[in-house]
Amino acid sequence: MSLDLGLNQRYLFPCPLCGQGLDVRETKKKKPYVVCDPCGLQLFVRNETGMGRLEQLVSDAEQRDIWARLEELQQQYQKKCPECGHKFWISPDRIKTSWVDGRFVGYRCPERGCQGVAAWDQDEK
Ligand SMILES: [Zn+2]
Ligand SMILES: [Zn+2]
Repeated sequence: MSLDLGLNQRYLFPCPLCGQGLDVRETKKKKPYVVCDPCGLQLFVRNETGMGRLEQLVSDAEQRDIWARLEELQQQYQKKCPECGHKFWISPDRIKTSWVDGRFVGYRCPERGCQGVAAWDQDEK
Protein backbone atom coordinates (compact mmCIF):
# COMPACT_ATOMS: atom_id res chain seq x y z
CA MET A 1 0.00 0.00 0.00
CA SER A 2 1.34 3.39 -0.85
CA LEU A 3 0.36 6.50 0.99
CA ASP A 4 -0.42 9.37 -1.30
CA LEU A 5 1.44 11.96 0.69
CA GLY A 6 2.31 14.15 -2.26
CA LEU A 7 4.67 17.03 -1.82
CA ASN A 8 2.14 19.46 -3.24
CA GLN A 9 -0.33 18.93 -0.47
CA ARG A 10 0.35 19.55 3.18
CA TYR A 11 -1.18 17.31 5.77
CA LEU A 12 -1.50 18.46 9.33
CA PHE A 13 -1.90 16.23 12.31
CA PRO A 14 -2.55 17.85 15.68
CA CYS A 15 0.07 17.18 18.32
CA PRO A 16 -1.63 15.10 21.03
CA LEU A 17 0.17 17.14 23.67
CA CYS A 18 -0.07 20.79 22.57
CA GLY A 19 -2.57 20.69 19.71
CA GLN A 20 -0.26 22.32 17.23
CA GLY A 21 -0.77 21.26 13.62
CA LEU A 22 2.19 19.13 12.65
CA ASP A 23 3.40 18.36 9.16
CA VAL A 24 3.09 14.71 8.26
CA ARG A 25 6.50 13.76 6.93
CA GLU A 26 7.79 10.62 5.34
CA THR A 27 10.81 8.58 6.34
CA LYS A 28 13.24 7.27 3.75
CA LYS A 29 11.35 3.99 3.97
CA LYS A 30 8.08 5.78 3.09
CA LYS A 31 6.66 5.52 6.57
CA PRO A 32 4.75 8.56 7.78
CA TYR A 33 5.74 10.37 10.95
CA VAL A 34 5.16 13.65 12.74
CA VAL A 35 7.49 15.66 14.92
CA CYS A 36 6.57 18.34 17.47
CA ASP A 37 9.70 20.30 18.34
CA PRO A 38 8.31 22.23 21.35
CA CYS A 39 7.09 18.97 22.94
CA GLY A 40 10.01 16.83 21.78
CA LEU A 41 7.42 14.42 20.46
CA GLN A 42 8.04 12.01 17.62
CA LEU A 43 5.28 9.82 16.32
CA PHE A 44 6.07 7.10 13.82
CA VAL A 45 3.51 4.95 12.06
CA ARG A 46 5.12 1.65 11.24
CA ASN A 47 2.47 -0.71 9.94
CA GLU A 48 -0.22 -0.56 7.29
CA THR A 49 -3.16 -0.46 9.68
CA GLY A 50 -1.77 2.66 11.30
CA MET A 51 -0.85 4.18 7.97
CA GLY A 52 -4.40 3.68 6.73
CA ARG A 53 -5.80 5.31 9.85
CA LEU A 54 -3.39 8.20 9.61
CA GLU A 55 -4.33 8.71 5.98
CA GLN A 56 -7.98 8.86 6.97
CA LEU A 57 -7.29 11.20 9.84
CA VAL A 58 -5.40 13.73 7.80
CA SER A 59 -7.77 13.73 4.85
CA ASP A 60 -9.88 16.84 4.77
CA ALA A 61 -13.15 15.66 6.22
CA GLU A 62 -11.45 13.69 8.92
CA GLN A 63 -9.22 16.60 9.77
CA ARG A 64 -12.24 18.68 10.67
CA ASP A 65 -13.23 15.80 12.88
CA ILE A 66 -9.88 15.96 14.61
CA TRP A 67 -10.32 19.62 15.39
CA ALA A 68 -13.81 18.95 16.69
CA ARG A 69 -12.47 16.25 18.96
CA LEU A 70 -9.62 18.46 19.98
CA GLU A 71 -12.11 21.17 20.85
CA GLU A 72 -14.07 18.79 23.04
CA LEU A 73 -10.84 17.93 24.76
CA GLN A 74 -9.90 21.54 25.26
CA GLN A 75 -13.26 23.17 25.76
CA GLN A 76 -12.54 23.64 29.42
CA TYR A 77 -9.75 26.00 28.46
CA GLN A 78 -10.28 29.69 28.37
CA LYS A 79 -7.86 32.08 26.78
CA LYS A 80 -7.19 35.69 27.60
CA CYS A 81 -6.44 38.14 24.80
CA PRO A 82 -3.04 39.77 25.34
CA GLU A 83 -4.26 42.95 23.60
CA CYS A 84 -7.59 43.79 25.23
CA GLY A 85 -7.78 41.31 28.11
CA HIS A 86 -11.02 39.81 26.80
CA LYS A 87 -11.50 36.22 27.91
CA PHE A 88 -12.85 33.73 25.42
CA TRP A 89 -13.26 30.01 24.91
CA ILE A 90 -10.99 28.52 22.32
CA SER A 91 -12.55 26.97 19.23
CA PRO A 92 -11.18 25.61 15.95
CA ASP A 93 -12.44 28.56 13.90
CA ARG A 94 -10.36 30.88 16.06
CA ILE A 95 -7.16 29.03 15.29
CA LYS A 96 -4.55 31.41 13.95
CA THR A 97 -1.82 29.93 11.86
CA SER A 98 1.25 31.64 10.55
CA TRP A 99 1.06 32.88 6.97
CA VAL A 100 4.71 32.03 6.60
CA ASP A 101 4.78 28.33 7.34
CA GLY A 102 1.25 27.38 8.39
CA ARG A 103 2.28 26.72 11.96
CA PHE A 104 -0.31 27.03 14.66
CA VAL A 105 0.38 30.19 16.65
CA GLY A 106 -2.67 30.66 18.84
CA TYR A 107 -6.31 31.67 19.01
CA ARG A 108 -7.69 34.93 17.64
CA CYS A 109 -9.51 37.28 19.96
CA PRO A 110 -13.25 37.40 19.10
CA GLU A 111 -13.57 41.10 20.00
CA ARG A 112 -14.41 43.24 16.98
CA GLY A 113 -11.46 45.19 15.70
CA CYS A 114 -9.03 43.46 18.03
CA GLN A 115 -6.04 41.80 16.39
CA GLY A 116 -4.96 40.00 19.57
CA VAL A 117 -3.87 36.40 19.37
CA ALA A 118 -3.72 34.34 22.54
CA ALA A 119 -0.80 31.97 22.26
CA TRP A 120 -1.57 28.40 23.13
CA ASP A 121 1.19 28.18 25.71
CA GLN A 122 0.73 31.63 27.21
CA ASP A 123 0.96 31.91 30.97
CA GLU A 124 -2.40 31.78 32.67
CA LYS A 125 -2.75 34.71 35.01
ZN1 LIG B 1 3.35 19.42 20.76
ZN1 LIG C 1 -8.64 41.23 22.13
